[in-house]
Amino acid sequence: MRLRALPLILLLFLLVSCAKASVPSPRTTLTEDEPSPAHLKLYVATDLHLLAPSLHDNGAAFQTYIHSGDSKLLQYSDALMNAWVAQVIRDHPDAVVISGDLTNNGEKESHRWLKDKLKSIEDSGIPVYVIPGNHDISNPWARNFRGDQQYKAASVTPEEFSTNYAPFGYSEAFETDNASLSYVIKLTKDLWLLMLDTSQYSNNQALGYPQTDGELASSTLAWVQHIGELSKSNGAKIIAVMHHNLFDHSDFSSSDFTLNNNGETLNVLEQSNIHLVLSGHIHIQDIQTKDHVSDIATSAFEVYPHQFGVLEYSTETASLSYHTQPIDVASWAEATNQTNPDLLGFAAYAKDFFRNASYTKAIKALEGQGYTETEQEQMAAVMAELNLHYFAGTMDTVDPGVLKSAGMQLWQNAEPQFIKNYVLSMGSKTTGNNSLTVNLSSGAAR
Ligand code: FE
Ligand code: MN
Repeated sequence: MRLRALPLILLLFLLVSCAKASVPSPRTTLTEDEPSPAHLKLYVATDLHLLAPSLHDNGAAFQTYIHSGDSKLLQYSDALMNAWVAQVIRDHPDAVVISGDLTNNGEKESHRWLKDKLKSIEDSGIPVYVIPGNHDISNPWARNFRGDQQYKAASVTPEEFSTNYAPFGYSEAFETDNASLSYVIKLTKDLWLLMLDTSQYSNNQALGYPQTDGELASSTLAWVQHIGELSKSNGAKIIAVMHHNLFDHSDFSSSDFTLNNNGETLNVLEQSNIHLVLSGHIHIQDIQTKDHVSDIATSAFEVYPHQFGVLEYSTETASLSYHTQPIDVASWAEATNQTNPDLLGFAAYAKDFFRNASYTKAIKALEGQGYTETEQEQMAAVMAELNLHYFAGTMDTVDPGVLKSAGMQLWQNAEPQFIKNYVLSMGSKTTGNNSLTVNLSSGAAR
């Protein structure tokens, strides 16, 4: 027995040593003075809209809030973020980019809490870069939910924002803009990230709400031009990132989403050889290309279908391909022994939550218009089905039967109203918007 036990112990020891040796060491971090490796992978997420779990007690006020809002899954902020952090660390992209609306309404506590989550990504050797969105700074709507009451919570100043996120861009910038929280990062010697702060938060306190529309000040545009010249003389390509959209992503509503001075901005981007913009804000998944510039609006992290963007860049061809990927909450829930069925069956839960929210909105909007109960239900079902596809960027896979249904005909014949326009606008869209390949040298996109 003893003769056999000894080799076993040795064998176990050897196995343990091997296991230690075979743990993949973190990929060499990109360095700003070296050329890009042959292939590079970036993850991009937007509109996280996270609410720190300490800011609510799941009580009546919070329940009312989440069921009357814009379908953000605030109740699962922690699970969504934990699942995504685990996924990012597992997949080990070269960098993570987050294009604003990090928090529900700019709560200082949510920013502090998110900082710890992002730190665990960086601790695994993956740099993270963030910019603010219109909800993140000096937001008078910051709230804490207790029992049946909402209480005002502290928000952050621009200075507090850049200090909180110092490790996630602000202390690593190669150049920063004086007039905004915009900065540039050299991912590598020849691939730069231009992180543009398009939000306008200086009047929020006086307004009593967070200003929704965005623009770039003329001094910021002059700075972008300067960065463009610098990149040209260094033979570097630039990916621009901003919260607001460069192009309209909806024929229904665009005024508060598309950058106020998008024409002027497009000119500057073109002069600077910038062919790709990563944006968010509108919460739907949509891609628009014009004049050799593509604007990819990734859908909101906190809203169905809870996805993010994967960018794969080939240095030799300067070709960048984008596709979306779901946050894998179910795998994380299983791996961490969660017992909540909403998390273990997350995809179905999230779809139901979003469908129900859309359905309820439609029913409420149709009340008192003389429709029978059956007609209301038919119309609401169409609205809910189209809205699922609209947010996911999958209008190309809508069942044609939905567009010919009795519910859709009722919408077509309805009195002019907000929700009718919305439903018809969705129904007229037939494209998929979850992938794009763009050449960063020429802007050619397909
Ligand atoms: Fe948002
Ligand atoms: Mn926004």
